[in-house]
Amino acid sequence: MATKRDYYDILGVSKSATAEEIKRAYRKLAMEHHPDRHGGDDSQFKEIGEAYEVLKDPQKRAGYDQFGHAGAQDNPFGGGAQGGNPFGGQGFEGFDFSDILNQFMGGNPFGGGQRGPARGRDLEVGLVIEFSEAVFGVEKDISVTLDDACSHCKGEGAEPGSSVKTCSTCKGRGQVTRVQQTILGAIQQTGVCPDCQGRGKIPEKPCTVCRGTGIERRTKSLTVKVPAGVDDGNTIRLTGQGAAPKGGGVKGDLYVQLRVKPDRRFERDGTDILSEAKISMVEAALGTEVEVDTVDGKVTLKIPAGTQSGKMFKLSGRGVPGLQGRSRGDHLVSVVVETPTKLSSKQRELLEQFAADSGKKGFFRR
Ligand SMILES: [Zn+2]
Ligand SMILES: [Zn+2]
Repeated sequence: MATKRDYYDILGVSKSATAEEIKRAYRKLAMEHHPDRHGGDDSQFKEIGEAYEVLKDPQKRAGYDQFGHAGAQDNPFGGGAQGGNPFGGQGFEGFDFSDILNQFMGGNPFGGGQRGPARGRDLEVGLVIEFSEAVFGVEKDISVTLDDACSHCKGEGAEPGSSVKTCSTCKGRGQVTRVQQTILGAIQQTGVCPDCQGRGKIPEKPCTVCRGTGIERRTKSLTVKVPAGVDDGNTIRLTGQGAAPKGGGVKGDLYVQLRVKPDRRFERDGTDILSEAKISMVEAALGTEVEVDTVDGKVTLKIPAGTQSGKMFKLSGRGVPGLQGRSRGDHLVSVVVETPTKLSSKQRELLEQFAADSGKKGFFRR
């Protein structure tokens, strides 16, 4: 599965960066990585462009902040952009994809020469909701088991009250440079110091609860606000609710992948809801009124005389609300005319009379 890097990380700006800061960061990086330049890199250049495309647009940026990469697209929920199936197991909640996601998000200290504080893993959990909950939105409590910041030392790794000393490995810089011999010659790589995890300091006395790691395995409860109009396969990003990195730093994000339970009465087509109404051939011929289930409850639908099977009736505004506050779609009812399979002798007689009568008038002629 291809998980994209965080757009803010790509541009090296904070989540609260102003439009001006984003623009400046983009220009600098675009120049640095331009493929025409010596040492430029086409894929990196494209990645930077993609991140800027989203972050420069306030609406796309807001979508991205709330829903992650899926939210940055024009149609924020255009199908499951995230591959993988977090629902493969038996229990949906608490499913931990960190091992897969880890390799993309700061898991490798020598990957891509990331600076700044360490970042915790992103996690992914599945959440099953009802059809109507997807339509109207819902708040759900979930529990996630993850590496959280140690509550005793607040994730710092030092026993509260104890002093800290400068890391001797990196001399307080938080970074180390390694020279590796490869078949292409010596390659110099700079990465986060393995001894102090980039902090530049080492506690004199490690935390007695987490033994200096700064993390604690814990099951935590969260309330997920599912907005109205979501669909099966959509992902909600909860920024900073992922795992804490060892030795302090920025927490990863938690991705909640939604699965919407099917409802045997309804089908969904974007913001429209489809259903069927069965009527008898007599009702179809004479006209009738039927009670139709909608997500708002029962609605009476008038079927005019002479309705053909397959005819669609529209209940305006009874569909699914568009995300970002767009108005609701429609509920489309398709009529299914049922032909009786068992007739009493009286009914048969009447229908034969009807046929004889219609024959004269050419009713059955095509
Ligand atoms: Zn601790
Ligand atoms: Zn160090």
